[in-house]
Order: sequence, then C-alpha cells, then structure tokens
Amino acid sequence: MKEMVCIVCPRGCRLKVDEATLEVTGNTCPRGAEYGRNEVTRPMRTVTGSVAITGGIHPRLAVRTDRAVPKEKMFDIMNVLHGFTACAPVKRGEVLIADVCGTGANVISSRDM
Ligand code: SF4
Repeated sequence: MKEMVCIVCPRGCRLKVDEATLEVTGNTCPRGAEYGRNEVTRPMRTVTGSVAITGGIHPRLAVRTDRAVPKEKMFDIMNVLHGFTACAPVKRGEVLIADVCGTGANVISSRDM
C-alpha cells in the first residue's frame, strides 16, 4: 500500500493506493483516483525552471513545460534548459523548445520579455 497526498487541487486528500490492484482510497473525487494510479504506474510532473536570455531586461527567463512529462525525464529536461539561451523579445506562452527530450511537451515562456 502506497500513501501519498493528492496534489491535483488544494484540498490535499490523503490517498492510499494498493499497488497490486491499483485501488485508490481516501480520494474525494475521481481526479484523485486517477492521480493515485498514475503516481504508482507512471508519475508525471510539469517542469518549471529558467533559461538564459539575451537582450532582455533580466538575465534569465522563467519557463515551464506546457504539459506534464514523465518524472524520470525531469533531470534530462533540466539539463536541456541549462544549455539553452533564448533571444528577446519573447512572448508569454511562446514555444522555445518543441518536443523537449521526445516527451511531446514543449518548453514555453512563462512571461513576456
Ligand atoms: S482527490 Fe479530488 S478533492 Fe481530493 S485533493 Fe485530489 S483532486 Fe482535490
């Protein structure tokens, strides 16, 4: 039995997931059950970070993936962000890196700069 806190919404229900049957208890809504099952079988996360930028008003630009990616790809994606430099001007939501690490997710700008 794996225990976790559901992070889908601020309510933070305490979930218990049977790893053999994938039965979820403690959830208040179906989204929690889905989250619990995914955490056991294939945990996903949205990656947030920053990249270097030239020509901007700050030296770094906040970025994030536009969807959740497999948790095991997070360090690979952070390495890509570390080696990437954006060029101002950049619009909020602009795709900076498409299909990062083959995940199907894009790295997008979190702000205008
Ligand atoms: S189980 Fe539903 S209500 Fe509870 S934290 Fe998750 S999303 Fe929110």
